[in-house]
Amino acid sequence: CGIVGYVGQRSVQEILLAGLEKLEYRGYDSAGISIQGESGLEVVRAVGNLAALKAAVAEQGAEGAVAVLAPPATAGIGHTRWATHGRVTEENAHPHYDPDNRVHVVVNGIVENYMELKNELQAQGAHFTSETDVEVIAHLIANDLDEHGLVEATRRTYNRLRGHYSFVVQSSEEPGVLVGARKETPMIVGRSETEQFLASGIPAFLEHTRTVQALEDDELVVLTADGARFMTADGAPIERETQEIDWDV
Ligand code: GLU
Repeated sequence: CGIVGYVGQRSVQEILLAGLEKLEYRGYDSAGISIQGESGLEVVRAVGNLAALKAAVAEQGAEGAVAVLAPPATAGIGHTRWATHGRVTEENAHPHYDPDNRVHVVVNGIVENYMELKNELQAQGAHFTSETDVEVIAHLIANDLDEHGLVEATRRTYNRLRGHYSFVVQSSEEPGVLVGARKETPMIVGRSETEQFLASGIPAFLEHTRTVQALEDDELVVLTADGARFMTADGAPIERETQEIDWDV
């Protein structure tokens, strides 16, 4: 339903939560964020509104998790869910992840061939923790991660999916990197010298930057703190012009 991603120098969780808040008009039933922390990927999810998510973040902080969620964590992803496949539960809220917690993903839209992919993965022994159509994405990317690296693993997985979706992934193996992909649902990149944003709607990051680049269908984008690199689903590099946004939220 709503997606945000951030990589830069500032406190990630605040930027993600504020970004999701700006997308709130879309309506949602649950929400979550995942942060690249010192000891790997940390996820917090909650059923209900963003107040419920913030409370969950604060509670986990009391147990020490926010030490991970606080600086120096400098990259992360967030999501508000409008359930299409799977009930409204914390387990079905995004981000979703692979069994080894190496790949986290937030997804808007629907993966139509998920049953076929899930059956294949389960036949290989994969254990799923959600009822959603999108968890397969994290599993598939994780399976290709060691051989191909995050970008290529994401590109290969993208080409196996059918339906309409946009998603953002991050991996514990490649800190400081986010990979986004888009097919028939909105996704936009916000640019600056030292930090990059990615969201399903410009309002999510408009208070931070007005310089944007559109991600088109069947394209991927690789974000690092110092820039954004676009490519086609076939892996060919793309030069993407920037635009300046002159309206206010
Ligand atoms: N199909 C996914 C789910 O049910 C994503 C829904 C959305 O776009 O929020 O979890």
